Amino acid sequence: MVTTTNKQGNKASFYKSLLIAHVRRYGAVSRTQLGQSTRIRMPVVTVLIRDLIARGILVESGRSVAGLGRKQILLSLNRRHGFVVGVEFEPDHMMTVVVDVCGNVVTRLNAPMPAQKTRDAIVRALIAAVEGAIRKSGYAPSALKGIGVADPGIVDSREGVALLCSLIPEWLNMPVRRLLESRFAVPVWLDENTRSKTLCEHRCGAGQGARNMLYIDIGCGIGCGIIMDGQLYRGHTEMAGELGHTRVLENGPICNCGSTGCLETVASYPAIIRQVRKALQDGTQSMVTELAGHRLEAISMTHIFEAASHGDKLALGLLERAVYYLGYAIANAVNLFNPEAVLINSRQAAAEDLIVAPIRQIVARHAMRLSGKTLKIHVARIGEEAGAWGAAMLILDRLFDGAAGAAESVITDRHA
Ligand SMILES: [Zn+2]
Repeated sequence: MVTTTNKQGNKASFYKSLLIAHVRRYGAVSRTQLGQSTRIRMPVVTVLIRDLIARGILVESGRSVAGLGRKQILLSLNRRHGFVVGVEFEPDHMMTVVVDVCGNVVTRLNAPMPAQKTRDAIVRALIAAVEGAIRKSGYAPSALKGIGVADPGIVDSREGVALLCSLIPEWLNMPVRRLLESRFAVPVWLDENTRSKTLCEHRCGAGQGARNMLYIDIGCGIGCGIIMDGQLYRGHTEMAGELGHTRVLENGPICNCGSTGCLETVASYPAIIRQVRKALQDGTQSMVTELAGHRLEAISMTHIFEAASHGDKLALGLLERAVYYLGYAIANAVNLFNPEAVLINSRQAAAEDLIVAPIRQIVARHAMRLSGKTLKIHVARIGEEAGAWGAAMLILDRLFDGAAGAAESVITDRHA
């Protein structure tokens, strides 16, 4: 008897997860539409929806306007049911967003990374960022449902461990999920920051509607996120998309990954800055010197883009070299994946003319004619919060769609 009750309870909870997942995916829907799309019997749908409304998870949100006949009451997720926090960090900054359960950003918090990037200091900064963002949002901490973290290195997302990060050498084998779950007592999802940005841009930015898409993230490194058949592609050991570590130079500089001549050693922003410094030390004249206040260590990409936009030969030459290798790498990726869109996040408005436009030309010349024919290359639209927002979406997916995935298979079996 106990077993039967448990079974019924499990089935009801599966069905509820499935109903929530459908409302989340399709927006405002009626009970009838839910019954049709989930294939759960209508009397069961009615009882379960009543419970989900009583628990504050769903709300009635108006009536259908299309079609003839009786207008149907529509159901939506209840924004006030709770929130999640998404955090993304890189060596120089940490961005945190509070996102309601419907996926809308409610609060943003930008903070510098600790000067000493020790393991403890970064964990303390992560905890402080989550707590600070919750305080700023005005939400009751008890309404926190989960936390998503976008990490700058290589992660094992199934175990929630940050494996290694070439940009922060101490960030090694960090059990981020365990640490944050024990602190906040909610589910935590850890992912790679390029993947989080890719998901965000695909759901809410310039990649909306694309079934197959590449997202190229140019900054401290060069990342590539892959959407394949509408889903994030991770690869066998979650290493897919390491475009920055494809080899482009025979006897090139040593890369952070241990290899030599990787794309990142020529075309990442730190690599371009390094090449500018070296040329200046060797006596090349450039406007960059003045823009950086005659301090080599102060040179940034903003100075280099500014100099290039005024026709500075050194800045233009080194950007052209970086774009040459980036363009070839992207053309190769286009030939491999045949995407309908490539989105480029170059982080600086000035980069649109100096990086994205010439990449378009190189890819148009070198991708195979049939793959490149309908390809669109866009500038990524979501700004600096893309990684944190994407991390929040990833934990929302786990919270709402994880159980639904299982429920869906149960239902499919039942109807098979
Ligand atoms: Zn490398």
